[in-house]
Amino acid sequence: MLNANGAAPYQTRRTFAIISHPDAGKTTLTEKLLLSGGAIRAAGQVRARGERRRARSDWMKIEQERGISVSSSVMTFERNGIIYNLLDTPGHEDFSEDTYRTLTAVDAAIMVIDAAKGIETQTRKLFEVCRLRDIPIITFVNKIDREGRHALEILDEVQEALALDVSPMTWPVGMGSDFFGVYDPKNKKFHTSGGERGGPFAVTRTVEGLEDPALTDGVFDRIMEELTENVELGAEGYAAFDKESFLEGHLTPVFFGSALRDYGIEEVLDFIAQYAPPPHSQPATGGRTIAPGEDKVTGFVFKVQANMDPKHRDRIAFVRLCSGTFKRGMKLKHVRAGKSIAVSAPIFFFAEEREIAETAFPGDVIGVPNHGQLRVGDTLTEGENIHVTGLPAFAPEILRRVRLSDTMRVKQMRQGLQDLAEEGLVQIFKPDIGSNWIVGVVGVLQLDVVVDRLKAEYGTEIGFEAVNLSTARWIETDNQTLQKMIENHRMSIANDRDDRPVFLFKNAWEVGYITDKYPDVTFRETREIV
Ligand code: GDP
Repeated sequence: MLNANGAAPYQTRRTFAIISHPDAGKTTLTEKLLLSGGAIRAAGQVRARGERRRARSDWMKIEQERGISVSSSVMTFERNGIIYNLLDTPGHEDFSEDTYRTLTAVDAAIMVIDAAKGIETQTRKLFEVCRLRDIPIITFVNKIDREGRHALEILDEVQEALALDVSPMTWPVGMGSDFFGVYDPKNKKFHTSGGERGGPFAVTRTVEGLEDPALTDGVFDRIMEELTENVELGAEGYAAFDKESFLEGHLTPVFFGSALRDYGIEEVLDFIAQYAPPPHSQPATGGRTIAPGEDKVTGFVFKVQANMDPKHRDRIAFVRLCSGTFKRGMKLKHVRAGKSIAVSAPIFFFAEEREIAETAFPGDVIGVPNHGQLRVGDTLTEGENIHVTGLPAFAPEILRRVRLSDTMRVKQMRQGLQDLAEEGLVQIFKPDIGSNWIVGVVGVLQLDVVVDRLKAEYGTEIGFEAVNLSTARWIETDNQTLQKMIENHRMSIANDRDDRPVFLFKNAWEVGYITDKYPDVTFRETREIV
């Protein structure tokens, strides 16, 4: 199937995420991108929608109380013939595992940084994940309507902190109280307010160059001098934009803007349309690479979300399509279970509402309602026995023993924990000795969510006890060595939810000691979810 320009539908897909440190402006930028794509009618709806959704869901009270966004979702919008799939990621670092997995489902990312704060810890971590996966990054320097660092200083910081070539695409014309707009030398455009200094973006003027009155009129001389200097130094001091370098993840184009005042939004969307990659090929087991142009459908689950109605155990699995043309009602093979499932009510996520998806293409994300069969990392195919690879589970940094107040509810507790583990919210470890499960998380807020959800959805009250354990590693070795280890360290061995053996370590010293003692064993910090 080709469109009017002779392109396959997947070539019009741009699937991306926004990474940032909390407060840099991700929500505001998301809102403005959707608005610009015509997906929502008034700014504020991203939040409003979030609030409605939260009101319906008990366990998300934690979100409400603490004002953080825990669950991620998908927002699809169309603009000038391009379909943008924006995958939202939780901002709070305690839920970063979710973010890491979402990043396996995107082809590009926008990195938002605050012009006054530069690169912050969470930005850097998320950037590293993108780098590992060679995800091309577009940098958006936000809040230039406020006092920030000098433009060149920010460019240098990105370049040095991330060891990445930077290529300024636009320049701020003043900042803070002397903010006049954004200058785009390549397209010869000046984006400015309707009149008052510092006002929201209203007009785009075509300008011949830095001397054009269309630019200079009304702008303070010293701001023009600074801009001229920036543009000149920028041309000498930084890499010229190069598409290949960008796609390989070696160079980031930098846009200056203000999400709040609408500067830089259209530039970024136009850039994504023109340069960001369409869906990439996906690695799979057996050395197979799944190309988006293949006929048969493949997809993988990168996130599972419990239904908003806590009384029902329905779940939505978010499936990123990698190849083929998906049609509603299709029977797909759920490779891990070896069963076929009919996808009869797939969901598309438009910004304002959800719709039944009739057809979807590589790069698109569909929501597949299910009763818990589908879990993070699962692959769906039209029959082929392969697993998409590359979805990581991380060694937990916080371990706790589960304490149950009502011992009659062991079954419910185990079911609940197993379900939440399959959603990817926690990891569970079943010790070789003793019946009390250990849960592992990366951030403590995950524990609060577990307690809340077990109570709301499984009617079971649990608590957590501290244990003298600091981390877990997956054990990879032959059976004989494993048996020997179990004999020698029975107290420290447990099985994860898939019955894979793990070693629970008391401290970093023990990790070193045991690793030295068993040179034939690999202790993994991450494992592939298959
Ligand atoms: P998030 O935590 O990254 O999602 O950040 P938000 O989008 O919620 O923004 C954090 C705060 O910064 C909010 O008070 C926003 O109104 C404000 N903000 C976001 N973008 C801008 C901007 O471009 N200029 C200014 N002055 N404030 C902004």
